[in-house]
Amino acid sequence: MSHSRDLPASQRPASVPLFDISRQHAALDEQIQSALAAVCRSGKFVLGPECVELERDLAAYSGAKHGIACASGSDALLLALMAYDVGPGAEVICPSYTFFATASAVTRLGATPVFVDIDADTCNLDVAQLESHITPRTKAIIPVHLYGQCVEMGPLVAIARKHGLAIIEDACQAIGAKYHGVPAGALGDVGCFSFYPTKNLGAYGDGGLLTTNDDAIADKLRLLRGHGMQPRYYHRIVGINSRLDTMQAAVLKVKLPHLDAWTAARQERADRYEAWFRASGLDRLFRLPKVAADRRHVWNQYVVHVDGGRRDSLREYLAARKVGTEIYYPVPLHKQECFQYLGYADGSLPNTERAACETLALPIFPELTVAEQRAVVEEIAGYFGVQAVTDGPSEVRRAA
Ligand SMILES: *Cc1c(COP(=O)(O)O)cnc(C)c1O
Repeated sequence: MSHSRDLPASQRPASVPLFDISRQHAALDEQIQSALAAVCRSGKFVLGPECVELERDLAAYSGAKHGIACASGSDALLLALMAYDVGPGAEVICPSYTFFATASAVTRLGATPVFVDIDADTCNLDVAQLESHITPRTKAIIPVHLYGQCVEMGPLVAIARKHGLAIIEDACQAIGAKYHGVPAGALGDVGCFSFYPTKNLGAYGDGGLLTTNDDAIADKLRLLRGHGMQPRYYHRIVGINSRLDTMQAAVLKVKLPHLDAWTAARQERADRYEAWFRASGLDRLFRLPKVAADRRHVWNQYVVHVDGGRRDSLREYLAARKVGTEIYYPVPLHKQECFQYLGYADGSLPNTERAACETLALPIFPELTVAEQRAVVEEIAGYFGVQAVTDGPSEVRRAA
């Protein structure tokens, strides 16, 4: 199914993209086109039958009772907070090292995000620091399963239950990820997913989904995404307009059966990076991503930590050699201009601030070829002045 053929070991690809969605879609083109054409003929463009089927299929995939489709991952977060009546005066605990939407959902409702530092190894919220941030105003916690690896949910859930706090999982990068065998989206009270094209299950545009096991919250989420309207033109609560287009659901329904194979391909590529970096001794020159115990990591991103101020020069070196990289994220949320009013001092979240200077995401996607991966490792070895070893076993570790 691989779209671009692997080159002989001696032949380096002209460039290695960070991500290339077109390869995945090329293989499914006919199926997707006919699914889209069927929606056009049906005329049911918003929350049509394909949306309802997708809600059911993704709830099952995530081990949750209910799936509620919406317009984006950002809206999923907003709707989840609305469902728990988060508003002015409330505090919501979340990491600062995440995509903006995690915290803007909180501030849009007039509530205050309270940032907790991350664990230096996984870049996920450090659960050991959680409890000291809880106040009488705390209403919810948003654990973000960053890069595709679940937060340490066992102790987090225990703390949340003890204090009566809602757990809203930001699983936008983590569809199919697991913690002790339980899927992301079924670990807390509500799970939030995104179908933005760069996510592991990407649409042909924006899309999102909420999961929950709570019947009352599911009903409230369905109301909230449709202006609180039930029946038509009778508004029980003030909601928003955040619905999924049937076209997006149709695309996602074609792609979902392939998700586990794509995840396995991502895991294989993560294993290969690790084997080759170790064989080349590069694991002593920068830090490889760590998979915590009892996790199924789905590798939305493969992120290394390069210290000593060399991250940016490595990135420039790779860019000059046409190897795509990205920084997730260069500015933590507590240092964003729009959140200065929250009053966080420099150095207040040391692991977060350090990660922002050290993280570098390397190309990883299911269709990334062996030759492309070899080129990435060789260029990085070139930067550090070591010999790349890329002919050993390509798998050192099978992900759970
Ligand atoms: C992508 C993402 C979002 C937002 O999803 P959109 O669908 O782009 O609105 C939220 N949180 C995290 C961690 C994300 O990666």
